Amino acid sequence: MLPAVGSLCISRTPRGGPRFTMAVRSNVNVSVAPILTKLQKECAAPLPVLRNVADAMTADMRAGLVVDGGGELKMILSYVDALPTGNERGLFYALDLGGTNFRVLRVQLGGQEERVQATEFEQVSIPQELMCGTSEELFDFIATGLAKFAEKEAGKFHLPQGRQREIGFTFSFPVKQTSIDSGVLIKWTKGFSVSGTAGKDVVACLNEAMERQGLDMRVSALVNDTVGTLAGARYWDEDVMVAVILGTGTNACYVEQMDAIPKLQGNKSPSGRTIINTEWGAFSKGLPLTEFDRDMDAASINPGEQIYEKTISGMYLGEIVRRVLLKMAEEGALFGNSVPEKLSMPFVLRTPHICAMQQDYSEDLQAVGSTLYDVAGVESSLKARKVVIEVCDTIVKRGGRLAGAGIVSILQKIDEDSNGAIFGKRTVVAMDGGLYEHYTQYRRYVHEAVTELLGTEISKNVVIEHTKDGSGIGAALLASANSKFDHDY
Ligand code: ADP
Ligand code: MG
Repeated sequence: MLPAVGSLCISRTPRGGPRFTMAVRSNVNVSVAPILTKLQKECAAPLPVLRNVADAMTADMRAGLVVDGGGELKMILSYVDALPTGNERGLFYALDLGGTNFRVLRVQLGGQEERVQATEFEQVSIPQELMCGTSEELFDFIATGLAKFAEKEAGKFHLPQGRQREIGFTFSFPVKQTSIDSGVLIKWTKGFSVSGTAGKDVVACLNEAMERQGLDMRVSALVNDTVGTLAGARYWDEDVMVAVILGTGTNACYVEQMDAIPKLQGNKSPSGRTIINTEWGAFSKGLPLTEFDRDMDAASINPGEQIYEKTISGMYLGEIVRRVLLKMAEEGALFGNSVPEKLSMPFVLRTPHICAMQQDYSEDLQAVGSTLYDVAGVESSLKARKVVIEVCDTIVKRGGRLAGAGIVSILQKIDEDSNGAIFGKRTVVAMDGGLYEHYTQYRRYVHEAVTELLGTEISKNVVIEHTKDGSGIGAALLASANSKFDHDY
């Protein structure tokens, strides 16, 4: 049974078979047009709005670098100040706990010449009940998955005698890092509501679970997924300065000069640089929001928090659309004389659904019709299907454009500090996440916003590079860089 911890948590996936009950409406002589017009107006993110968001985020980044809690963006120190060089050698593991899945990976690194000699990975989806269970349950599940994967190690993978298997642990939730291999969970996000982890060192949680499973491995690097993505991309390309995740949730990190971090006390590394994990999902200033966003936020397990994430990331886009469609059904007779009951179930409409609907190019919008039928149990007219697409596009366009503004906020921060060293040359933004990967329209809106904000000339120098699963290899590379064993290079 699921514990009753927040409606958002227990409703992440639709449960039960299809239900086709309809609540009958009393007044059918109404239209959806005013609702759509109002929505489009409130969600509009024209250039001045984007500029305002980008500038406010840049200012917030600076405030967060001065002192912890100085801004909405936490600007967390990653303790990663040595980026991969290509010299890394040996067998390393990575474990990635994201929003939907956890992935395990092993990689055999062969130094400058051979680079990645072999790699293998497995992906396990996280059962619904574990997202709302206890910390021990979740970490035991992860350790068990890792143990099963490690048992299958063979072939090209080889651990030198006397060495312990080392792991780069990618953990995609806000952590207050205390060293490269320890960090305390600040809070769960993305619908997780696991009891007993907040305030604890997540590496210790994993180590204890591995001990319980009798698994002899150690975590050498705890990295955020953005940091893993940056490290993985930088291994191949020295122009990578920023990494962004647009998946279930969203976040970004970048390479910062230590001199530009007033809150950094203690020793500076020889490189003089470090990676800052912005935790930009917490941003909220100047965003164009609607009643649907406010209602969704109020019903969430973290009201008032992660507003930028709730506006632009994959976990929420489908849900915002569902809320709009429900209002249109109730007050604008979108689906005729009745309101499909299933449409009132939070999170029944997911981002992959709205993506599939927007990618329906057939004349009668067949796929839109069948998605609405499958998801909400509703028969729809062609007119209604067209409205549904308009709603999806409105929400997705706002999300993509605001994500573009976030990317520009980081680039302009680095550029301002380096007197034009960013915009004057090729700069790469490493991108990962299922939303960016699969949602063509969303991706286009991200690019359009970046180009509008930077202008055509400068934006030619900014390369947004999709680095699928780069964060896994990145974490393994960072485990290697922070290995407790002697480097043989
Ligand atoms: P995570 O963020 O959990 O680490 P991913 O980066 O793989 O995982 O992103 C998964 C998210 O990407 C899903 O929650 C969903 O919002 C989005 N997504 C996945 N597939 C699609 C799709 N086909 N179309 C649109 N969005 C998708
Ligand atoms: Mg991820």
